[in-house]
Amino acid sequence: MIPAEPEAGGVYVHVPFCVRKCAYCDFYSCADLTKISAYVDAVIAEMGTRSDVSGIRDTLYFGGGTPSLLFPEQIAAIISSVRRRFDMAADTEITMEANPGTVGADNLAGWRKAGVNRINIGVQSFSDTALKFLTRIHSAADAVAAVDLARSAGFENIGLDLIYGLPGQTAQSWRSDLEAALRLKPCHLSCYMLTYEPATPLTQSLEKGLFRRLSDKAVATLYDLTLRYLEDNGFYQYEVSNFSTSRQTRSRHNQKYWTHAPYVGLGPSAHSLRADRRSWNVRFLDDYLERIGRGELPMDGAEDLGPRELMMETLYLRLRCKDGIAIPEFNQRFAVDFQKFFAAPIARYAAGGWVEATDSFCRLTRKGMRYADGIAAGFIDVL
Ligand code: SF4
Repeated sequence: MIPAEPEAGGVYVHVPFCVRKCAYCDFYSCADLTKISAYVDAVIAEMGTRSDVSGIRDTLYFGGGTPSLLFPEQIAAIISSVRRRFDMAADTEITMEANPGTVGADNLAGWRKAGVNRINIGVQSFSDTALKFLTRIHSAADAVAAVDLARSAGFENIGLDLIYGLPGQTAQSWRSDLEAALRLKPCHLSCYMLTYEPATPLTQSLEKGLFRRLSDKAVATLYDLTLRYLEDNGFYQYEVSNFSTSRQTRSRHNQKYWTHAPYVGLGPSAHSLRADRRSWNVRFLDDYLERIGRGELPMDGAEDLGPRELMMETLYLRLRCKDGIAIPEFNQRFAVDFQKFFAAPIARYAAGGWVEATDSFCRLTRKGMRYADGIAAGFIDVL
């Protein structure tokens, strides 16, 4: 196998704090905000232990959890440490996820001044009833205010996250959410389907029969509506759940995950990828602080990805992207003839109108996007 072309890498900082746990969320997060200051010192100390990182990086992403719980000075300290420690490009995309319940004019202006140039606001819904069901800490009005304040603070690159597929949601109510989102003129939208993760309070309520989940058919109708509505209103789908107003406003950072570009993850539970080796940090904040306090690497495990795993991941990740699989590149990387190797799934899915394949690419049609994971599994079965 020939290694993938070296690409500029990214830096991910995992901020593991939330004011309160949302009922549907299964990410690890901690509500003890008194530990934020120790966490910031630890992340900066972790950078000093990462002797395995080299090469240019052009993205820095603060994800969580709720990164907007950090004061501007804390974000500024992490950014300047990242710039000192890693080889960061002058035009680095610096993204911060923000919860509308934690933002104000002052901290937004402070984050912007600290160098954050892209903000992703977790709106989720413009219906207060839906937000209550999801146990979010903010209202729809807070979300609208957060976007307005972000723009006044100088953010031009604003993205919004929305969730669809809620119990009882109709095409009309989801369309109202999309309309409300577009009125705020974001340049990026992520529309995620509500999922029922094992053992979350939401799943427990479902199992107790406290509500009925939306049928798969109704969810599929909402997804189709999303694609049509956003396309008619100037958004391009570039991944199953992601839409932007142009190529330039795609999430540069998230695309690194889909192309196996190298990234270094800092903070509890963060993952890193370097030269086909994936590693991950300890999951819990206290373990992380303890390890860093002892001057140790906070790494919990690592695996080397062989050609088969890399091919499987490439199929799974690239078929979720609108551009699909670049066949000449795939053939060169894995030393196979894509068309021959995957002739059976290509023929099967092309006949159903789910996949289109030429000599240069293999990608999902709009109809196929809805079944991206199942179709990728059909390709992977061949391996
Ligand atoms: S704010 Fe985000 S990370 Fe925190 S609990 Fe809610 S969904 Fe999960």
